Amino acid sequence: MILVLNPDLNKQKQNDICLKLQKEGFFTRLVSQYGRLIISLDGSVTDKFVRNVRSWTGIKEVIPGQNPFFLASRRCNSANSEIAVGTKDNPVIFGGDHIVCIAGPCAVETEEEAVQLALQLKNMGVEIFRAMIFKPRSSPHSFQGLGRLGLSILKKIKQETGVLVSTEVREPFEAELVQDIVDLVQVGTRNMSNFQLLKHLGQIKKPVLLKRGMGSTVEELLCAAEYILAHGNPDVILCERGIRTFEHYTRFSLDIGAIPAVKELSHLPIIVDPSHASGRSSLVKPLAMAGIAAGADGLMVEVHPQPQKAFSDGAQSVRPDEFRDIFNKVSQVARVVGRKTKQPLRQS
Ligand code: PEP
Ligand code: MN
Repeated sequence: MILVLNPDLNKQKQNDICLKLQKEGFFTRLVSQYGRLIISLDGSVTDKFVRNVRSWTGIKEVIPGQNPFFLASRRCNSANSEIAVGTKDNPVIFGGDHIVCIAGPCAVETEEEAVQLALQLKNMGVEIFRAMIFKPRSSPHSFQGLGRLGLSILKKIKQETGVLVSTEVREPFEAELVQDIVDLVQVGTRNMSNFQLLKHLGQIKKPVLLKRGMGSTVEELLCAAEYILAHGNPDVILCERGIRTFEHYTRFSLDIGAIPAVKELSHLPIIVDPSHASGRSSLVKPLAMAGIAAGADGLMVEVHPQPQKAFSDGAQSVRPDEFRDIFNKVSQVARVVGRKTKQPLRQS
């Protein structure tokens, strides 16, 4: 159950309400987000208790437990949330009139290659470089990423190129290792329902990119986002990356409908990942264009200088020159739907 408090309630009165609820046996979490002051309660409640709480002073609204998400919903915040990534002085904004492009290899392989590619992509208009060092792989025998050895490479990419960096984490410990280095922390499809990780990411001071579970509904994606929000972190960006269907020509089925559906249900930004959805480099461009046409706030593309030699996901990775063409087409689609992309700095 969620209690929405009067926004002008002073700290003492907020604490009094929490204490009263704790005495009734509830675990309470007080969260202030999007101009709302709410208490999230764990525990089952009777109708009688709900009626009783409604009459307490300071309670504006009681949202019963059958509403699976509230903080992520339009009911909580009717306006689109704009999530800032990067420095306070010069952030990249997701959810505004600007389409943000994240690109880079599936995984960081060597420092030299990563730094060079980051620079090349930055010059093409990429604002965030994906630099994965912890890879959740379906097989334990596949490349698992450079792990902790890659931390110094993440620092180097930032120092040498000035580009913002995102990286994936699979467990709270990895989030601790990267949170002071990177600008955006990613939760992959295989961890969307890792609730301990989501709760932990609710307590960090970095924006989170939450990818849809390959077997999860839109509602389950929004519930996963709700975990992060309810634990204190308001900066969540969603990502549609394809779901498992009976089709196997493509690696997954990009659920284009999920993009406007999320926009109806939630104020959070959502981006599209045509690379993992398609599994084929030849399909990345049309799916990227379709995602932006459907209202996505950004794009994530896997780019590798030599896809045939990539340690992972080479089949879906595009070369930098192919990426330039994709970015160009996406920018044209963005203009048609009233959005814009960052202009490339120069041809490289
Ligand atoms: C990724 O973006 O690196 C990734 C592993 O994607 P997903 O979790 O969507 O498979
Ligand atoms: Mn990949």
